[in-house]
Amino acid sequence: MSKLLEVRDLHVSFKTYNGEVKAVRGVTFDLEKGETLAIVGESGCGKSVTSQTIMRLIPNPPGFIKEGEILFEGDDLAKATEKQMEKIRGKEIAMIFQDPMTSLNPTMTVGAQIIEGLVRHQKMSKAEARNKAIEMLRLVGIPSPESRLAQYPHQFSGGMRQRAMIAIALACQPKILIADEPTTALDVTIQAQIIDLMKELQKKTGTAIILITHDLGVVADIADRVVVMYAGIVIETGKLDEIFYNPRHPYTWGLLGSMPRLDLRSDQKLLPIPGSPPDLISPPKGCPFAARCKYAMKICKEQMPERTDISSTHQVACWLEHPMAPDVKPPVAAVG
Ligand code: SF4
Ligand code: MG
Repeated sequence: MSKLLEVRDLHVSFKTYNGEVKAVRGVTFDLEKGETLAIVGESGCGKSVTSQTIMRLIPNPPGFIKEGEILFEGDDLAKATEKQMEKIRGKEIAMIFQDPMTSLNPTMTVGAQIIEGLVRHQKMSKAEARNKAIEMLRLVGIPSPESRLAQYPHQFSGGMRQRAMIAIALACQPKILIADEPTTALDVTIQAQIIDLMKELQKKTGTAIILITHDLGVVADIADRVVVMYAGIVIETGKLDEIFYNPRHPYTWGLLGSMPRLDLRSDQKLLPIPGSPPDLISPPKGCPFAARCKYAMKICKEQMPERTDISSTHQVACWLEHPMAPDVKPPVAAVG
C-alpha cells in the first residue's frame, strides 16, 4: 500500500494566558492513496486542529507544533516554510469547511475563484481555466454552469455553495481533500447528496479524503477507516467494520450508543456522553476518559494506557485490553 500522508506523534499546543493548551497530544495515523479516513470525536477533541495543522493553517502565535512529523509523500510539512506550503495548499492538499462562506470569497464570482486556482496552480490559460471551471461545476451537479460562473457566492443556495466549494477544491486535482464537517450545516437531503457527490468524485479522481466529523451516519456511508480522538489523543483506530462491529474503547461505545442495530440514518448524531472532556492545560496523567468512564479502574487514573493491537489494522488505547483486566463486554446497543 502506498502511503500518501504519515502523521507521526504530532503534538500541537496553544499558548494562552492560563497556560499551554495541549490540543493535540501524540497523534499518529496514515492515509493511503484514494482512501477515505474519518476522524471522529466530540468538539474540542483535536480533530480540526489536527487537520488544520496538516495544512499549516494554525496561526503561530498562539498555536505551534511542539513535536512530530507530517510526512506528505515523504516531505515533512511540519517543517515546511510558508512558501513551500503555498505550493501544497490548494494544489496537493485542498480543504473544504462546514461553512462555505469561510472559504469562498464573497467579493469574487464563483467562476473567478475556480479560474484563479487553475491559472495559478495548473498554469492554464484563462480560456482553458474557464472551460475547466464549467466542467467542474457540471461535475458537482450545478445546473447551467455557464451562467452560474458569473454569479457571486451569495446568489447560490447553501447546498449549491457547498457544491461550488467542492468544485473549487477539486479543480486542481489535489491528492488529498480535507473535509471538516462538510455537511453539518446542511439539511439531511442535501447532506446525503453532498456525500454521494464526494463518493462519486473520489471514484473519478482518486483523491484521498480526510473527513472530520461528529456524524457517524456520514462515517458509515463513506469512510474506509476511522480514527477516534478524545482529548487530543487517538484512542481507537481501525477499518470501518472494526470500529462499527468490534469497537473496543468505552468512548467509542459511547459514540456508537446512538446507533441501535446499525440501521444508520444520516441524521443520527452522536449521543451526548455524560460529563465533559478534561482540561487540556493540565491533562490527567492517566487515561483522559477516566473521569467519564464507568469501567475505570485504579490504574486508569495513574497511567496512560498503551496502544494495543486488536488486529494489524485495529488499535485501541484502553486498560481493558490488559490481560489482567476484567472481561467487559460492550453494551449491546453499541454493536447491534
Ligand atoms: Fe475506561 Fe480505563 Fe479504558 Fe480509560 S483506560 S477507557 S478509564 S477502562
Ligand atoms: Mg471542528
